[in-house]
Amino acid sequence: MIIDRNFKKEKTMSKTIEKYSFGIGDRFARQGKAQLEALLQAKKLGVNLVPVWNKSYREHTITGTQPDTVRTEADAAVKALGWKDSYYVDADHVNLKNVDLFLESSDFYTLDVADFSGKPADEAGFKAFVKAHQKFIGKLSIPGIDEPLEITEATIEASARKYLLAIQEAGKIYRHVEEKKGKDNFITEVSIDETDLPQIPVEMLFILSAVAREGIPAQTIAPKFTGRFNKGVDYVGDVMQFEKEFNEDLCVIAFAVKEFGLPANLKLSIHSGSDKFSIYGPIGKALKKHNAGLHLKTAGTTWLEELIGLACAEGPGLAISKEVYRKAFGRFDELCGPYASVIDIDKTKLINPDEVDKWDGKKFAETLRHVQSNPAYNRHFRQLLHVGYKVAAEIGERYYQAVEDNEKVIARNVFENLFDRHIRRVFV
Ligand SMILES: [Zn+2]
Repeated sequence: MIIDRNFKKEKTMSKTIEKYSFGIGDRFARQGKAQLEALLQAKKLGVNLVPVWNKSYREHTITGTQPDTVRTEADAAVKALGWKDSYYVDADHVNLKNVDLFLESSDFYTLDVADFSGKPADEAGFKAFVKAHQKFIGKLSIPGIDEPLEITEATIEASARKYLLAIQEAGKIYRHVEEKKGKDNFITEVSIDETDLPQIPVEMLFILSAVAREGIPAQTIAPKFTGRFNKGVDYVGDVMQFEKEFNEDLCVIAFAVKEFGLPANLKLSIHSGSDKFSIYGPIGKALKKHNAGLHLKTAGTTWLEELIGLACAEGPGLAISKEVYRKAFGRFDELCGPYASVIDIDKTKLINPDEVDKWDGKKFAETLRHVQSNPAYNRHFRQLLHVGYKVAAEIGERYYQAVEDNEKVIARNVFENLFDRHIRRVFV
């Protein structure tokens, strides 16, 4: 009885995100239904995923769109498909300068404080933080991690130097949103993924303590994991090392929830989470082993399926896909600039647009589609188009019309990509 009552109380008091959530980004807000179809299909297989529509401030700036367009898209898709479970709209990668634009339309906030990492916090705060964690000095056993963590005063100081200011900044953004939207009316994520160095599990422990000390009821946390999480392509790095750290992160989170009183459903969020096929197996295994939740964020992978669908349609559709590639090729530095830390393109492996112009739709689609066993697949071509959505935004009406004219073939590609290549590999 008591457990029942507590559960109810928690349910009515605060927005609580489900165990598994799936970030469905959509550059041009036209694939909401096709993406939601993939989650409906998962549900039929007994996998309960809730959708989180995410579009970052950076993407809105590049496409010239307003945050409310994402809410409109999400509401429309949910209505059209009769989706009965929860869904969320994520103000993705926001900070104090731009969060106000998202107050109306979002109920999920990804507080991006990566820019503040590595910068010193005020001296008094730093000292208080180090003092508060003296009890961890020595060997700290965390259930599930084989070797106890070795913690010295220097470990605590180093974590504080790297992350204390960032988490203090997250506190400022959180309190700002809380003041405007009311406590418990939104989900909070803290993201420090776009930094140079990955966070090791012991740093995760102190980051989470800082999150708790700021009073941020974070339900998801997005660290930078070891290895490269390039946009739209597979993971690059040591898969075994990733697996070890991912498992340890899950243990640290479970420990921190109890130790620091963080929300019981706190879970990892994986950014640039699409297309990381080689680590989906280890991730799925770890989630089962630890009975842990996950938020997997995808975004640009869906826009690439628009280009694939257009190419498959041949005729004017294929012509637009080729046009996007030609223009993106000519504006390489400009388009890649904002994504420098999350792409690795070898310019010599790109194909000359004159050559691409000779291709049929099948060749274009196979070069772009993320099927690594296909000899035509080219990850440099794919990454350039991934960051090339600005070109499509500039083509504007003509591009949107082509997407509309070829809705069926595009929707099939969007669905297959999310369901077969993503959801199935992680969650089923
Ligand atoms: Zn991110």
